[in-house]
Amino acid sequence: MDTGKVYGQWTCLQMLLAGRMISPDRRNILEKQMDTGGANSESASDTASARTAEGLATRSRNHYVIVGAGSAGCVLANRLSENVDDSVLLLEAGPKDLLLNSTRLSWKIHMPAALVYNLCDDKYNWFYHTRPQKHMDGRVMYWPRGRVWGGSSSLNAMVYIRGHAEDYNRWQREGADGWDYDHCLPYFRKAQTHELGANQYRGGSGPLHVSRGKTNHPLHCAFIEAGQQAGYPFTDDMNGYQQEGLGWMDMTIYKGKRWSTASAYLRPALSRPNLKTEVRCLTTKILFEGTKAVGVEYLQKGERKKVYADKEVILSGGAINSPQLLMLSGVGNGDDLKKLDIPVVSHLPGSNLQDHLELYVQQECIQPITLYKAQKPFHMIKIGLEWLLKYTGIAAGWV
Ligand SMILES: Cc1cc2nc3c(=O)[nH]c(=O)nc-3n(C[C@H](O)[C@H](O)[C@H](O)COP(=O)(O)OP(=O)(O)OC[C@H]3O[C@@H](n4cnc5c(N)ncnc54)[C@H](O)[C@@H]3O)c2cc1C
Repeated sequence: MDTGKVYGQWTCLQMLLAGRMISPDRRNILEKQMDTGGANSESASDTASARTAEGLATRSRNHYVIVGAGSAGCVLANRLSENVDDSVLLLEAGPKDLLLNSTRLSWKIHMPAALVYNLCDDKYNWFYHTRPQKHMDGRVMYWPRGRVWGGSSSLNAMVYIRGHAEDYNRWQREGADGWDYDHCLPYFRKAQTHELGANQYRGGSGPLHVSRGKTNHPLHCAFIEAGQQAGYPFTDDMNGYQQEGLGWMDMTIYKGKRWSTASAYLRPALSRPNLKTEVRCLTTKILFEGTKAVGVEYLQKGERKKVYADKEVILSGGAINSPQLLMLSGVGNGDDLKKLDIPVVSHLPGSNLQDHLELYVQQECIQPITLYKAQKPFHMIKIGLEWLLKYTGIAAGWV
């Protein structure tokens, strides 16, 4: 469902620049984390000699600087560092997604059924809230976004769903050359290893493991059956020939664990000497020479640092943070920026940011077959232990 025009351009700009999507408490915590480097900073290149901002500014040159180790940033870090002649620096505001290198210790991220835990607090989450929304009866909408390696793919619902083929074809018709479905499909396939094997639509050897979220739960089967009785088709593969209809979803879950882009793309590339990562560092500004982005400024452990990119600065901070960082750096609606005393680098207005709503429909179940029992403490411990020991059981999928 579309939220319609969620923010007017000015409202959005004000909100982002004034930090109004972050509660004051949250902002204090964030700034404190950036000042202290957080409770357990994991900066790889945190050496004493790199402590002076100017020193770092002169020494720290890379071919690519990537802002944000989320879904897009992890993929880019992997693919760009494949070329051993290119040096890549990946900057992330949040922490790593592993505690002591263990998925078990960081079960709240890696256990599929634990997904709601990280939506309830701001540990790995920007935890945004909108202003009251005029078109939603003045309600404040909660807007979670990942702030950790893997970004939102470390706390999302793990549904693997491609866009509709006709949407890509429309992009092409509207001028986005090379973005029609026929051009995109080979990349979808290249990225993916589907547990059901490769075919015309599915990939068989890519880094992103995808499993079919098929269950034997009677309520799931009843739902799909009911949809067909209501006249909707059954679809065998939602990412295949026919997307419309009801069927079993594909999930980015592999061997009972969340398969975020940090797992799929970043971790396999970490041993490359030409890839450097920094965590708990908030990029605050893109540095320009004229209108060319040449580096970024960031805040880490209370220090303001600069790094430069010989080839490209890549902004992959997500749909909220990337435009915010652009505006803080002088790229946005010039009139609005001037009102906030931000020097205009490029007058590039953007507006009409949209997101989909998530709605819950609750029905009473007339038989005792729901997962309600699984939420009782004894069962939760049993289910949790099974996952911790074997990565199997109810916790290994989200149902
Ligand atoms: C709760 C939830 C459930 C979802 N469920 C699904 C689903 O089931 N299926 C699906 O396909 N999609 C789902 N999504 C959407 C999907 O996860 C996102 O569209 C996708 O992850 C966005 O990727 P991205 O690279 O644009 O941004 P992100 O993955 O959010 O990454 C941005 C990264 O940049 C970092 N960053 C931002 N600003 C800065 C800065 N200034 N300095 C340094 N670092 C910065 C952030 O901390 C973050 O790690 C869900 C999203 C959420 C939040």
